[in-house]
Amino acid sequence: MSMKKALYPGSFNPITKGHMSIISQASCIFDEIIISVLKNTNKPNEMFSIEENVELIKEIYKDNRKIKVITSKGASVDVAIENNCNMMIRGLRNLSDYNYEMELANINKDISDGKVNTVCFFSDIKYQFTSSTSVKEIFRLGKDISKYTDDLVINKMKQKLNK
Ligand code: ADP
Repeated sequence: MSMKKALYPGSFNPITKGHMSIISQASCIFDEIIISVLKNTNKPNEMFSIEENVELIKEIYKDNRKIKVITSKGASVDVAIENNCNMMIRGLRNLSDYNYEMELANINKDISDGKVNTVCFFSDIKYQFTSSTSVKEIFRLGKDISKYTDDLVINKMKQKLNK
């Protein structure tokens, strides 16, 4: 039987426990998950550079042989095809995610001539209100973010702030 591979594209700036819960749910279905860290030009003032972010996510998953981390530009469907993935993973927190993700999934299927499909997992209830943006805001307010993201992320964010 062939390996079931999927691409998980996103900004992950920073990666949150919400993203991580989607990855662990997807791990039950897929043999390999490639986290594709997008350079998203629509989002200025990001916490980490793309290189720093890839290193950080690699570090978080260093003991998990199912997870690969890459950086990517351009259309995620092309990145999926280049990496032999015919599935992409996305997460759903609420109806606005649903509307956005359904549109994105349909567009991606269409522009890949039906080659790349999307599978969505529901957010863990604990992380329904967790976003990269809220994690950054709460951190800048000096509040504890350990409920929402990994300790490695917090340490790296603290290093950035002290610079
Ligand atoms: P993008 O900029 O492409 O939306 P993100 O890093 O913000 O990238 O999110 C990547 C994916 O993870 C999206 O499908 C998003 O809906 C999902 N996601 C983000 N936060 C959560 C969360 N707390 N629970 C479940 N899914 C989430």
